Amino acid sequence: MKIICIGRNYSKHIDELNNKTEKYPIFFLKPDTAIPPKNHPFFLPDFSNDIQHEVEIVIKIKKVGKNIDEQFANRYYDEIGLGIDFTARDIQEELKNKGLPWEKSKSFDGSAAISNQFLHKNDLNLQNLNFHLKKNGKIVQKGNINEMIFNIDQIISFISKYFTLKIGDLIFTGTPSGVSNVKTGDLLEGYIEKIKVLEIKIK
Ligand code: ZN
Repeated sequence: MKIICIGRNYSKHIDELNNKTEKYPIFFLKPDTAIPPKNHPFFLPDFSNDIQHEVEIVIKIKKVGKNIDEQFANRYYDEIGLGIDFTARDIQEELKNKGLPWEKSKSFDGSAAISNQFLHKNDLNLQNLNFHLKKNGKIVQKGNINEMIFNIDQIISFISKYFTLKIGDLIFTGTPSGVSNVKTGDLLEGYIEKIKVLEIKIK
């Protein structure tokens, strides 16, 4: 399976990192080794001094597809969860400045934490779905699916032009504003509406 992550999909987050809005979705990949074992903590890697959380809505692909038309994209997923796109921001800044690929900063082991629980799309309002992340009990990131620049169906259609989507592939759909760094002992808790679906300790 593969993990495809969308960048720059919420305007307030684009502003906080001084990036520009793109005409088309931008994306990068994480390998399956980026997913930590279930219920494992996140271990801070020693190659970065600025690991940041990015909470994101995650889509699980349920059907093989290529060149998927936007109007049929909803046939390719049922389950929606949350993920943390852990980012070594110091390394990413360096790579961005040099115009180099981001993998070193985005795709390392443990960088794709995903919720234990995925929810069925029929139980959710995909036009208006709130999610948030708490760090040590305090809300740090808050988003709504309706603030995405490219919506889920547009994302699926766009990336399937380049990659065949396969069963079990995960799509991280971009983070809202409020990213900040994590330290040993922090506790991250992610919610879709009022349902807590994700909990990660930082070690
Ligand atoms: Zn992200």
